[in-house]
Amino acid sequence: MEHRIIFATGNAGKMKEVRMILGELGIPVLSMKEAGIAADIVENGKSFEENAVIKAETIRDLTADGDLVLADDSGLEIDYLDGAPGIYSARFMGEDTCYTIKNTALVEKLAGVPEEKRTARFVCAIACAFPDGRTITTRGVMEGIIAHEIRGENGFGYDPIFYLPEFGCTSAEITPEQKNEVSHRGKALRAMRKELEGLFTKPEKEPEAKG
Ligand code: IMP
Repeated sequence: MEHRIIFATGNAGKMKEVRMILGELGIPVLSMKEAGIAADIVENGKSFEENAVIKAETIRDLTADGDLVLADDSGLEIDYLDGAPGIYSARFMGEDTCYTIKNTALVEKLAGVPEEKRTARFVCAIACAFPDGRTITTRGVMEGIIAHEIRGENGFGYDPIFYLPEFGCTSAEITPEQKNEVSHRGKALRAMRKELEGLFTKPEKEPEAKG
């Protein structure tokens, strides 16, 4: 049976990252659009994993035999705010509110908070729904601290306020390649690639016996 991986996202940037990492598996990796699938999914889970599973399983039920469906869910957890915005990262202060406003608000909420209490992390959960009904998940985390000001033009979302001590700058100031290496999504994707490796590689042909 021909297998394909369908990644449940409409985000072109995410697809590029996904193809870079999962391309090595040697089977086609398609976006939902490329697979001709459209769905409005209600993400009402209580954790990143639950939301990723809801997305992957909903799309799996709309796909052809043999297709594997992957979906991710990610967000920013700030310890001083008891893990907020967390699974509500995209919806925090309204889905259409620009990130300059959201980031400024978060920096203001942490005004005067000392370095050691500004710890935060980006979390990414990836779910893979198999054609046989099984679903597995992987998780990747990138630790950092909330900066005192917005800095950097790269990345997206909360990157300009996410300070990475090992780089000495925010995740909006490192290159996309550097971010892929250390990011929550990169780590979760590589963990998923590891889970899927071997599932699709054909067994090596036995060498012919010499007679
Ligand atoms: P999604 O689940 O990948 O759509 O991400 C949910 C939200 O989490 C995004 O809309 C961003 O607000 C935030 N987020 C997730 N990953 C990142 C990242 O790498 N940088 C900045 N913000 C992120």
